[in-house]
Formats: sequence, C-alpha cells, structure tokens
Amino acid sequence: MLRPDFLGFGVQFHRCLAHSLLISGFGGFFMDSNQKIDVAVIGAGIAGLWACKKLRRAGFGVALIDKSRGLGGRMATRRAGKLQFDHGAQFFTASKPAFLGLVSELVTDDLCAKWFADRYVAIPRMSAIGRGLLDSEEGLYLNQQVRRIHREASGWFIEFEQSGHDIIGNGYITNIVIAVPAPQAIDIIGAEYSGFEKLKSVQYAPCWTLMLALEKPLQSDDVYMEFPDGHALRSISQNSNKPCRGEVAGLHTIVVHASQDWSIQNLEHDKETVQDALLSIVSDIFNFQTPPHYISAHRWRFAEVTQAAKVPFLWDSKIGLGACGDWCTGPRIELAFDSGNALANEIIADRL
Ligand SMILES: Cc1cc2nc3c(=O)[nH]c(=O)nc-3n(C[C@H](O)[C@H](O)[C@H](O)COP(=O)(O)OP(=O)(O)OC[C@H]3O[C@@H](n4cnc5c(N)ncnc54)[C@H](O)[C@@H]3O)c2cc1C
Repeated sequence: MLRPDFLGFGVQFHRCLAHSLLISGFGGFFMDSNQKIDVAVIGAGIAGLWACKKLRRAGFGVALIDKSRGLGGRMATRRAGKLQFDHGAQFFTASKPAFLGLVSELVTDDLCAKWFADRYVAIPRMSAIGRGLLDSEEGLYLNQQVRRIHREASGWFIEFEQSGHDIIGNGYITNIVIAVPAPQAIDIIGAEYSGFEKLKSVQYAPCWTLMLALEKPLQSDDVYMEFPDGHALRSISQNSNKPCRGEVAGLHTIVVHASQDWSIQNLEHDKETVQDALLSIVSDIFNFQTPPHYISAHRWRFAEVTQAAKVPFLWDSKIGLGACGDWCTGPRIELAFDSGNALANEIIADRL
C-alpha cells in the first residue's frame, strides 16, 4: 500500500486550471488529401504519439490516425458530465534516460506531475498526454478506424472502416507505422504478409474496470491499493486524489481494476452484471452505506501484454512498414514509449 507525496499540490492548482484552458483552446488543421505523406502513423497511444513527434522533429511529414475520439490510447480518461476517471493506465514510472528526459520536460511544462512515490500522471487527466505531445493538430485524423493497408508502386493506400477508401495520401504514403495492439495490427496488415510473424506470438489479458463516484472518500489513507494474487481485484485508485483532479460537486471518483483471472472469467458477461459484481466486492471491503452517485464499467479486451514479442520494434525497410507498441517488450507506458522511440530512430537513420 502506498501513500501520496502531498508536497506542492497547493501550488499546482493554478497551473492545472491554466493548463485545462490551454488544451481546450487547441485549434485544428488538416492535411490536403492529395498531399504526399512521408509517414502515416496508425494509433495515437504513447508509442504512436511519440514516434509521430520524433519523426516530425526530424523533418518528416507525418499523418497521425486513430479510431478513437481522443488521443492517448490506453492512457485514457472517461468523462461523465463533470466527472472524469482515468480508467486505463493509472500512473507511469520512468527508469531509462530517454523517458526520464521526456517526463522531466512534461513536468516542467505542467503536462504531468508526481502522484506518489516514483509514480507520475498526466495532468489534468491521463488522456491529456496526447495534446501535450502534439505541437499542432495538423495531420491528425481522429474517429478514423483503419481497416486495411496495401501497397502499390506509388506507395501505401489506407482503407478506412467508415469511408471504405482513402481519405489521405491517395496512394502517396511512403512509410507506415502501425502502433496498435498486436491482434489489431495483424488485421490491418493482413495475415498473408509474412514479414511480421512475431506479432502472432503476442498474448494479452483483459481487464474489467469499475468507475464510481461516491459522496465520501474511501476509508483508507492509501490513494492506490494493490491486491495480492488470487484476489478478485487488482487495484483501487482514489482517482480524485491525483494532482489536478479533486472532488467534483462534492463527489470522490474511484477507479477499480479487476484481476486478470477475474476479468478472464467474466470477459463475456454484460456490463451491468460486471458492474454489480465488482460493486459488491468493493462494497464488502469498505462497507458502503449509500449507493454510488455514478457507476460504470469498461472492458479492456487487450489490457495487458502477458507474452511480448521480445523485439524493440518491427521494420521492413524494403516496403517502408514498421510496427511498435507495448506488445514489443511489455505492458508499461515506458516500454511502449521505448518502442515508438526506437522505431522512429530506425526510420530516421534509414530514410534521411
Ligand atoms: C486497465 C489498464 C491499466 C494499466 N495500468 C498501467 C499502469 O498503471 N502503468 C503503466 O505503465 N501501464 C499501464 N497499463 C498499460 C499501458 O496503458 C500500455 O502499456 C500503454 O499505454 C500502451 O501504449 P501503446 O501506444 O502501445 O498502445 P495503446 O495505448 O493501446 O494505443 C493504440 C492506439 O491504436 C488505436 N487503434 C487500434 N486499432 C486501430 C485501428 N484499426 N485504426 C486506427 N486506430 C486504431 C487505439 O484507439 C489506440 O489509441 C495499463 C493498461 C490498462 C488497459
């Protein structure tokens, strides 16, 4: 059980407010659909976001595409009215120079802050990492699920689920980076391509998540509780205790992650059944006297890599196709960043 480092939370308040205003005022610019694109990055989780940023810094014209409404992938935040819950990754740690450098920059720019011990969170919410890492929205395509890619003599074509045809690049995309979970990467590339066999070895565990808004904080001094193997729960986070969150209308937000085993056993159960089951487990621990003001469950089908590909990234120089993400080395934000960083370095060395 771990306790927070409360130092500095008071001075953070104004920075958090200013930051919220800054990111909500972000403008949007889009590439011309006929524009030649050096690299199209598919997937705007930390691996794709960082690869995009690094390639742009090196002078490449990069399009960034994601099927979701927002950026960040599993560094995710669910909003419900004024309430918000970091319902994916809870925090990140940094151990190696490249990620330590980024975290230090993000702290200086008020884009992330220490929660407790050596654990950091993006501020004012986990998903804000995306806006923090992108310098502009130029070349950003959200709500665009990629169905397939294929290559012709002129370059890559991207086929989208919604439109069914190219909306960017028009066949003039030179390189593609796939930064999505391994099973989705296989679907996009097509199982017939034999260059990235390592993708097929990757395995994931799911995670059911419960989000609660309560009148009172949990009766615990611990802001983050981890449970031992064999327990139905993996962790409980006092979400509103994270920097720049706080109570909303007197309500405290809590995020509960079920254990791998429990999530696997209940994987195909409907959301309401899972919600009730998890609430009853948490309620037994904390002896809730009143029902929650808000309750919702979310299923992460590909939550945690349990068997990684054990490669830093995949890159086929002949056809300009790369893949990166946490599935390369393990289920951590820093490891996903490492993979995007290493692939971007490889492309820069290969193509500049
Ligand atoms: C419940 C949970 C708790 C976790 N807790 C922690 C933690 O405390 N600390 C930690 O370090 N890590 C944690 N992790 C793991 C961490 O979140 C991941 O390792 C990391 O965020 C993965 O980043 P990524 O860029 O590789 O992939 P993702 O973040 O999954 O990004 C992939 C992106 O690809 C997009 N995409 C997928 N398919 C398509 C398509 N066809 N077309 C277009 N876009 C597509 C998705 O929308 C997504 O935005 C947790 C994960 C979960 C789910």
